[in-house]
Amino acid sequence: MKNTLKLLAIAALIILTTSGCGTQKPARQANYAGSRVRFKALIYYTEYAEEAHVQFAHQSIAFFKKLTVGDGFKVDVTTDLSGYTLEQLMEYSTIISVNAAPQSRAERELFEKYMKHGGGWIGFHAAAYNDRNTGWPWFLEFIGGGVFKCNNWPPQPALVEIDNARHPVTRNLPKEFVIPPSEFYQWTPEPRSNKDIEVLVSFSRKNYPIGLKDIVYGDDWPLVWTNRNYRMIYLNMGHGDEEYIDATQQLLFINALRWIVSRDPEGNPFDK
Ligand code: ZN
Repeated sequence: MKNTLKLLAIAALIILTTSGCGTQKPARQANYAGSRVRFKALIYYTEYAEEAHVQFAHQSIAFFKKLTVGDGFKVDVTTDLSGYTLEQLMEYSTIISVNAAPQSRAERELFEKYMKHGGGWIGFHAAAYNDRNTGWPWFLEFIGGGVFKCNNWPPQPALVEIDNARHPVTRNLPKEFVIPPSEFYQWTPEPRSNKDIEVLVSFSRKNYPIGLKDIVYGDDWPLVWTNRNYRMIYLNMGHGDEEYIDATQQLLFINALRWIVSRDPEGNPFDK
């Protein structure tokens, strides 16, 4: 009897504390993905970049965080990889570099180890920028061997073409589509000449000549590619505040995330 009373008291307390009172609405129980966090992603960026690259970084953080609705996955954000141990970094299925490559020696060494241990990487635009002063031979090999050659200016939309329409990143995209305004980097040697590189999306030659101030007149121009030796994808877009205005480009970015994460060394989190 004593126990029954105790249980009733507890039940009453639960009802009182969960039914709410006053005019405040109870919190909405939206749990679209169940409570399973399928994977973790780490966005890496810098505030010390040109304004358009910082704009893209902030919009990317908002974009990827919005995709976590329902806690299907977790996004953390950092401006300094050297605060992590390799073990901590390996908890992330992918690093998403939105406007910079790792800078300090400690960050670079850690990132290199992370990738060699099966880590994932999605890099946008300035994340692959390198020139004669970069001094990081492994990274040059990692991104396909290309050093910055030139760019169009000002940022503008461009027609792009799919190179491999059967690839998971591209198979639900139109064969040709126009992407939002961006600055695009061209590289030398161009990545397609590297046997380890698979190009997925290229700049259409119908765009040439492109630019009003800095004009690019031609040449093969891969925009999205992967290095088969790593779990990585690079996307040339990522300049300014208009990169997320287009559904097709958003789909490309989500496809890229899903493809990298689905090849996690621990197994495909979407199959579980
Ligand atoms: Zn740029």
